[in-house]
Amino acid sequence: MTLSDITARIDHAEKQADRTPGSTRLIAVSKMQPLERVEAVLDQGHRCFGENRVQEAAGKWPEFRDRFGPVDLHLLGPLQTNKARQAFDLFQVIHSLDRPKLAQTLARLAQETGQCPDLFIQVNTGEEPQKAGVLPTDVDGFVAECQALDLPVLGLMCIPPAEEEPSLHFALLAKMAARNGLAGLSMGMSGDFETAISFGATHVRVGSAIFGARA
Ligand SMILES: *Cc1c(COP(=O)(O)O)cnc(C)c1O
Repeated sequence: MTLSDITARIDHAEKQADRTPGSTRLIAVSKMQPLERVEAVLDQGHRCFGENRVQEAAGKWPEFRDRFGPVDLHLLGPLQTNKARQAFDLFQVIHSLDRPKLAQTLARLAQETGQCPDLFIQVNTGEEPQKAGVLPTDVDGFVAECQALDLPVLGLMCIPPAEEEPSLHFALLAKMAARNGLAGLSMGMSGDFETAISFGATHVRVGSAIFGARA
């Protein structure tokens, strides 16, 4: 698929769901992709990308930004507290806020620097032991904790279990966001972004459908 195929599918899914046109942000997930594929998408004018690792992002994005100008970068993968400062410098949005210690570190950095990336709290909707994210029962408490620290929490993020019907997880995430007064929903990947849009996704994270299979 090309970038314009994906944006056309997003437009269509918004219409089908009676959503405001343009209310879904497309994050092009460029992790582990050859640089020339990323460059091709930059050449087409897209300026919103997602990466999984701070180190990998630090290796490619400063140079792309020198050449192409401002790019909105989203961190999608787990963040270690010792990489938080570097993440602050590189990313406009962090989707993987998942524990009190990280919230405290981000709040301290925000105090120090007078700014903070926008944040999504990652929720482990499938309660999978190997997966990051707060458990559904802990979401309300953790949202309150982050808000008490004055962190800019936009919404919730999830990665549904691979073998389950994603709609159940999207519906659950939407319900938890609504009851906490949060407008942002980061959900939907290459295989299910249209479904996610029908459940109110504000940010879809699409990698292989745009760039092809990863190395
Ligand atoms: C890799 C990744 C994606 C993109 O996955 P695709 O299936 O290639 O679209 C989205 N979200 C997260 C958190 C990822 O790690």
